Amino acid sequence: MQPTPPPPAPVLLAARSLQMVYGTGPTATHALAGVDLSIAPAESVAIMGPSGSGKTTLLHCLAGIVRPTSGSVLWREQDIASLKDTQRTALRRSDFGFVFQSGQLLPELPAVENAALPLMLGGMPRAQAVATAAVRLGELGLAGMEDRRPGELSGGQAQRVAIARALVGSPGVIFADEPTGALDQTTGAEVMAVLTQAAARSGAALVVVTHDPTVARWCSRTVAMRDGLVSGEFYAPTGHQPTAPATQQATAPSAPQAPAPAPQQAPAPQQAPAPQQPGGQGR
Ligand code: ADP
Ligand code: MG
Repeated sequence: MQPTPPPPAPVLLAARSLQMVYGTGPTATHALAGVDLSIAPAESVAIMGPSGSGKTTLLHCLAGIVRPTSGSVLWREQDIASLKDTQRTALRRSDFGFVFQSGQLLPELPAVENAALPLMLGGMPRAQAVATAAVRLGELGLAGMEDRRPGELSGGQAQRVAIARALVGSPGVIFADEPTGALDQTTGAEVMAVLTQAAARSGAALVVVTHDPTVARWCSRTVAMRDGLVSGEFYAPTGHQPTAPATQQATAPSAPQAPAPAPQQAPAPQQAPAPQQPGGQGR
């Protein structure tokens, strides 16, 4: 019997020959110099590279926050780079979730309203939006903290609220730019455990920008960037995810409740057999 070749991986989001140039003339910066990348539904991808290599610019192009100088960004096969600003804004609201390094929560709103914001902006009645957000907060280990304002949360708890907000509208993809950048190693690992598990549970793809290899390890694929280009990529082995850190023995004063250790997650759906050579642009 002839072995059947595996079907090509479906593509949710793709960059094609993506270029981004800031400025003009001799001072122009080629932040992206021709990036090709395909992301499958529910895949988790880390974009890793040194500072200035173009990671944030790539994320902003993929998420429709900025328009690339040339090339295309395909979201479910639609080129979003050619959409009008208002259309891209609507798409971001309906289909994408975002987690940033810090400072993304509105300080005057309680956690549950921060998490409910995308639903309210989308027109859902407040009571329903808040109830939905409260469920998300509970799933992320924040039950009982719904009414706390961001200033009353630890850094890790604030990131969980941001993750709840990113997921509350059931987006197809979550973009995270240095989501652990303001946290210590242990809290960062807890946040990555929560983020990757929550994305997997909801079926969302995850694109995480980081310069930290211990953060990238939580994703099923790592794309390395250098000088505005993909310089290599590799897939984590099956059952790749690091073990979530155990509950901290000594609870920091700023963290009133140590989070429960997260359960181990099943491996991501698709794993490729072998690392690719650096320089390969991948799929
Ligand atoms: P990374 O996230 O990997 O640190 P960035 O995408 O932020 O990299 O930046 C890539 C390059 O583009 C850097 O040289 C940076 O200085 C430049 N750059 C980024 N944003 C802008 C901007 N808005 N205007 C001008 N140059 C920019
Ligand atoms: Mg950056």
